[in-house]
Amino acid sequence: MEKIGKERDIIDKSDETKYRSIRLVEKSDETPEGDGFIVHRSFPSQSIRNLDPFLLLDEMGPLDLLPQEGRGFPDHPHRGFVTVTYMLEGKFEHKDSQGNSGKLGPGDVQWMTAGSGLVHSEMPEKEFAKSGGRLHGFQLWINLRKTDKWIKPDYQDVSSTKIPIVTTPNGKASIKVIAGNYLDTKAVIRTLTPILYLHFTLQAGAEVIQPVPKNYNAFAYVISGKGLFGKNKITVGEKNLIVFKNDGEYLSISESENARSPLNVLLVAGMPLNEPIVQYGPFVMNTKEEIDKTLEDYRNGRIGKIEF
Ligand code: MN
Repeated sequence: MEKIGKERDIIDKSDETKYRSIRLVEKSDETPEGDGFIVHRSFPSQSIRNLDPFLLLDEMGPLDLLPQEGRGFPDHPHRGFVTVTYMLEGKFEHKDSQGNSGKLGPGDVQWMTAGSGLVHSEMPEKEFAKSGGRLHGFQLWINLRKTDKWIKPDYQDVSSTKIPIVTTPNGKASIKVIAGNYLDTKAVIRTLTPILYLHFTLQAGAEVIQPVPKNYNAFAYVISGKGLFGKNKITVGEKNLIVFKNDGEYLSISESENARSPLNVLLVAGMPLNEPIVQYGPFVMNTKEEIDKTLEDYRNGRIGKIEF
C-alpha cells in the first residue's frame, strides 16, 4: 500500500524548543539467544533496564545460515507482554501451544499479544532453512497493563503488502507505518495502549519531524547508514540505539546532504504504563507472587505445549 504524503507544514521549524534532545546513544550488544542465534541487543543493558512500556529490543542477526543449519528460537514460553517481530530478510515460521502457525517473510510483521501465556517456537521456515540464506529482523517486547496481562493470547500477522508506506512530497523519505500513524496515515495493526512504530528510509538531504506526546518514551535504532538525531543533530551510525529525552513534542531525524547511502532507522515510542515490573526471563508480571505462580504454571504444563 503506497501513497504520497500531503504537503503540510506540521511544525514551525524555527521553534526548536519543541524538539527533543538525546538522552543517550548506545551500541547494541552481540548476545547469543535461542539455540545460538546471534542477536544485537539494545536493551535491557547495563544502563537501560527498560524504556516503559518497552522491555527489550533485539536486532536478529543479520545471520547467514548455511543450508540445513536452521538456527532459531525453539519452544519457549511468554506471559504478560507483547512480542513484535519485524522481518527484513529471510523467512521465519512460528507455531504455538494453541495450535496456531504462520510464516513471516521480508517486510512482514507479527504482533503477538502473549497475555495469559503460551509456548511458541520461532524457527527458519523449512524450505528457506534447506537452502540457507540471510536472516535479519527485529524483535520488540512491549509490556501490558496489569488489566491486560491475563487476556487470551492474540495474533496479528500482517503481510508487508498491507503495511502502509508514505513517501514525502519531495520523494526523499519513505515511512512504513507499522503502528500508530505518520501524519494522517494510520497503521493497520491495533495496539492495546498507544504505540508508535515507524521505519524511515531517508535519502541525502531528507528530514522528518515526528510529533510524539512529551510523556511518551521514545527511541530510534539505526539499521543502516548514518543519521542526525534530535535537537542538536547528533550523528549516529548503524547498530546504535538513540534514546530521546522527554523534553519536547517533536522528534527530528535527518540525513546529511552528502550522504552516499540511505539511512534506515526504526522510530518507536509509547505511552508509559507506570506500573511495577517484575520480570523473570520470558515472564513479565507486576509482583513476585505472580512470577512464582507463573513458574509453577509453566512447570505444571499450564502455559501449554506445542503438539503438532
Ligand atoms: Mn518468543
